[in-house]
Amino acid sequence: MIHIFRLERSAKDITEYIIKRLAIVCEDINAKDAESVAYLTILYQRVLEDRRIAPEERGLMHILDKLEEDLMYDRRIFAARAEFILDFLEADLLRCALLSCNNKTEVITLGRVRWLKKTYFSGEKEKKTAERLTPGTLKRYVDQYVIGQEAAKKAVAVAVYRHDKMVKHPGEKFAANVVLLIGPSGCGKTEIMRRIQEVTEYPVICTDVSSLGASQYRGRHKEDLLISLWEKSGRKKAQAEHGIIFMDEFDKVLQPVFSERGINVHDDVQSQLLTMLEGSDVELKVNGRVFTMNTSHILFILAGAFQGIEECVRESKVKEEQQSGFIGFNNPLMSEIDVGFSRNNITHEVLMKYGMKRELAGRISEIAVLNPLKREDMIRILTVPKDNLIERYAREIRLACGADLVFTEEALEKIADIAIAEETGARALHQIVRRAVRQCLYEAPGLKGVSSITITGEVVSGEKDPVFCMAKDAADWKAGEWDEEAF
Ligand code: ADP
Repeated sequence: MIHIFRLERSAKDITEYIIKRLAIVCEDINAKDAESVAYLTILYQRVLEDRRIAPEERGLMHILDKLEEDLMYDRRIFAARAEFILDFLEADLLRCALLSCNNKTEVITLGRVRWLKKTYFSGEKEKKTAERLTPGTLKRYVDQYVIGQEAAKKAVAVAVYRHDKMVKHPGEKFAANVVLLIGPSGCGKTEIMRRIQEVTEYPVICTDVSSLGASQYRGRHKEDLLISLWEKSGRKKAQAEHGIIFMDEFDKVLQPVFSERGINVHDDVQSQLLTMLEGSDVELKVNGRVFTMNTSHILFILAGAFQGIEECVRESKVKEEQQSGFIGFNNPLMSEIDVGFSRNNITHEVLMKYGMKRELAGRISEIAVLNPLKREDMIRILTVPKDNLIERYAREIRLACGADLVFTEEALEKIADIAIAEETGARALHQIVRRAVRQCLYEAPGLKGVSSITITGEVVSGEKDPVFCMAKDAADWKAGEWDEEAF
């Protein structure tokens, strides 16, 4: 590995060379690895282009310097590719060390690779692991990003904590640990998982299960979910077997869908999911390679909107009351019960009424209901979470022209109202805010001497332009009336 970087080679040569070496240290190369190879080639190219490095001195160390520059610039962007490259180089250097007698340069380079791994990756994992220990710390982390939805945050935090305990104490018996999150679209179900993913050492995949098909047909099956988890775990089976699968749109597989031959496809899908949830060995085939993955220690979190479930709650309540001999024909529960109340009464029986197989319902240990987002929740989502939308745009404008971006209260309320009318939850906020700041983003890089740009309710509704306020005399300037020559 070292020697090749001492030679002048084309990027194509080096790519082929790396792929060859990769094939030796890795079992097989997939598209994600190809991305990392391309990145390594770019790093190599940057070394070639760096005039400060004499051609005869070019070495792997310089590639590692470039890699570290990127990690220091923005760890999040480069983390996945950098980690892959460091793993690969470590394996390759170790292999070289085993084959040839210990070459001093290789030993020093190996030291550097390990130092980078420790500094940028394992150190952080250890820190996170220490922070991850209790449901409370997990929830507090998620609290920084997800507004409200207390029950769901607690349920997921407890499940992830228990999962950790189950993995670390494989000999102990634990009760079932499957969580079901019920809440309308865009209310934070996936966001909770996205944030948990940042602090757990276990690989997490968030996947839409509505497109799963019956096993006798072509399409996506439970095996594909497990392959995705395995890929996410860096193709390490042992890690994948301790991973977390978040199944979104789970309610869709509870509704019957009939094939041409009149078979309920979702019946089979539920059975497939049940075998996974119960813990079983599943045979997987990847590029002609066959192996089994055991699902007993995978944490499953199910989620869906469960539209119309209130009706099932009402029916089940009525049945309950009838059984106790208490009900009249005009039972108020049938019509007057409020939606919020009924959603909080979701039991296994209700889930079965909704279409869930008895055995599947029996596996669910915790049901948490998320509330639809109200106007004040939307406003808080815009302004309170760490790195919220408003803050992000304000930072961008500040970088472009040094001005403060200000949203009036009325503007925030207007954004929240439009989002609620769109009925896609907080998901809609991104588009609405983007529309409101579009003109500022366009004009800001050309502005000088502006102290603030204000977005009013009328800007949000598209009736007026943003208000530009000058630093010197605080005069209001309207966009479009700008005279660049004056500055
Ligand atoms: P779903 O509930 O359909 O899974 P998501 O969790 O993906 O929806 O939410 C969509 C987007 O809306 C997320 O990217 C997040 O930014 C925002 N969002 C939704 N709910 C909340 C919340 N309670 N707190 C903060 N942000 C939220």
